[in-house]
Amino acid sequence: MCAALSAREQGASVLVLEAAPKDLRGGNSAFTAGNIRTVFNGVEDIKALVPDLTEEELATTDIGTYTEDEFFDDMGRVTEYRTDPDLCETLIKRSLPTMKWMREKGVRFLPIYGKQAFKIDGKFKFWGGLVIQAWGGGPGLVDALHEAAEREGIEVMYEARATGLITDDDGVHGVTVKKDGKTMSVRARSVVIASGGFEANPEWRTRYLGPGWDLAKVRGTRYNVGDGIKMAMDAGARSFGNWSGCHAVGWDFNAPEFGDLDVGDNFQKHSYPWGVMINALGRRFVDEGADFRNYTYAKYGRVILGQPGQMAWQVFDSKIIPKLRDEYRIRQVTKVRADTLEELAEKMEGVDGKAFLDEIAKYNAAVRTDIPYNPNVKDGRCTEGLAIDKTNWAHRLDEGPFEAYQTTCGITFTFGGLRIDEDGAVLDTEEKPIKGLYAAGELVGGLFYFNYPGGTGLMSGAVFGKLAGASAGQKAVGNS
Ligand SMILES: Cc1cc2nc3c(=O)[nH]c(=O)nc-3n(C[C@H](O)[C@H](O)[C@H](O)COP(=O)(O)OP(=O)(O)OC[C@H]3O[C@@H](n4cnc5c(N)ncnc54)[C@H](O)[C@@H]3O)c2cc1C
Repeated sequence: MCAALSAREQGASVLVLEAAPKDLRGGNSAFTAGNIRTVFNGVEDIKALVPDLTEEELATTDIGTYTEDEFFDDMGRVTEYRTDPDLCETLIKRSLPTMKWMREKGVRFLPIYGKQAFKIDGKFKFWGGLVIQAWGGGPGLVDALHEAAEREGIEVMYEARATGLITDDDGVHGVTVKKDGKTMSVRARSVVIASGGFEANPEWRTRYLGPGWDLAKVRGTRYNVGDGIKMAMDAGARSFGNWSGCHAVGWDFNAPEFGDLDVGDNFQKHSYPWGVMINALGRRFVDEGADFRNYTYAKYGRVILGQPGQMAWQVFDSKIIPKLRDEYRIRQVTKVRADTLEELAEKMEGVDGKAFLDEIAKYNAAVRTDIPYNPNVKDGRCTEGLAIDKTNWAHRLDEGPFEAYQTTCGITFTFGGLRIDEDGAVLDTEEKPIKGLYAAGELVGGLFYFNYPGGTGLMSGAVFGKLAGASAGQKAVGNS
């Protein structure tokens, strides 16, 4: 939708093809909480995005900063320095201007008080570089962009699945579309592909991500099956990025096969840094407190998928239960509760209870209780001497009642895709732009490898959408 609005700004006439029916429109974007990672250099930048913040709110909030350098550091660190430097620079440098542009288009933002800030000494302090969310979450964001599109005369055709590109030696001249069982051609001077990755396609997942990925649950839309990537590659586009990588999280074990818009992202279970994760063998298998959840959650889905039965239980005691994120309190949750660890062990389906009790005893004995706990920083309150130590936020599990939550792997989106240039144009296998073809969003390869800093997907969709839309619009009106 950012691409459509940006192309329209150039004076182009724009048609959006949406494979989903109207009530399921907006792809993965609609399933998000609307959290967006942007550069900001202080409170003035946040005020520009959230002008309705009151003086009282400002006085009780330590917003901090998130500079370009910090964003670069985060992207570098989590992608093990594989992120494409040019793409990464574009994303980061254009993040704040693109946020301001979205606001001008009618998207409203607010600070993420609930999940990204803890109140300490009467003041909210934000952590992990993520401060802003769209008003109304993902659905609010999608609605605001569609309303802007309607105001600006952009037509959206629903249940219209693009099936191929109309091409010749001079480039791309439109798309073929299947609507109401009939295939038709839509001619256009330029085309922006923004149809997501291949996360909802079990066959492609198994082919590219590897064995076992057919068993993952899809967190979001069922419509992102790799169509855009396939049609571009059929037209000669180069594949690019981490094709064997994806964003995947701990997700309720009994969640449906695809996302449910009524539940949104609440099947996720992201308070694991404060507890322990146990597999079917009764063992911990990962450092739950390696980093803030923003920097580990996207890679731990893969780790859970690799456990026996693709399953893990998250375990908490009464010190932590009141602090669990909202998503732990939904109705559709797979949870057990018991007064003692022994009773809990019996209730945790599929787990070797004896091994679990033994594991917790060893864990409890290893916690450095002399180091103070502080959720706002990496507090270094660790365990010592375990095969897999916990690096931060370690608590003994010793105060009942106890709760355990059963999770599996939920895939969010795939990292591999197409190669684009600085104008958002899709490159062919000789690294030359395919005339008239542009791309944005999840299907742009090269930004994310192995992992991802939370809130970057929407920012990438917006930044590269605006960029690709502007180039496509200029081409359409004959200015390039
Ligand atoms: C549960 C969940 C929570 C998330 N939370 C966050 C978050 O808080 N912050 C964040 O930054 N990111 C989050 N993400 C990631 C984020 O959703 C994506 O990175 C981002 O929305 C991708 O935008 P996009 O426009 O590329 O794709 P999408 O928003 O998925 O849009 C793709 C569109 O293409 C359509 N489509 C697909 N195939 C065709 C076809 N052949 N013809 C026509 N239309 C087609 C789809 O129906 C859809 O409307 C989350 C994802 C999920 C699933």
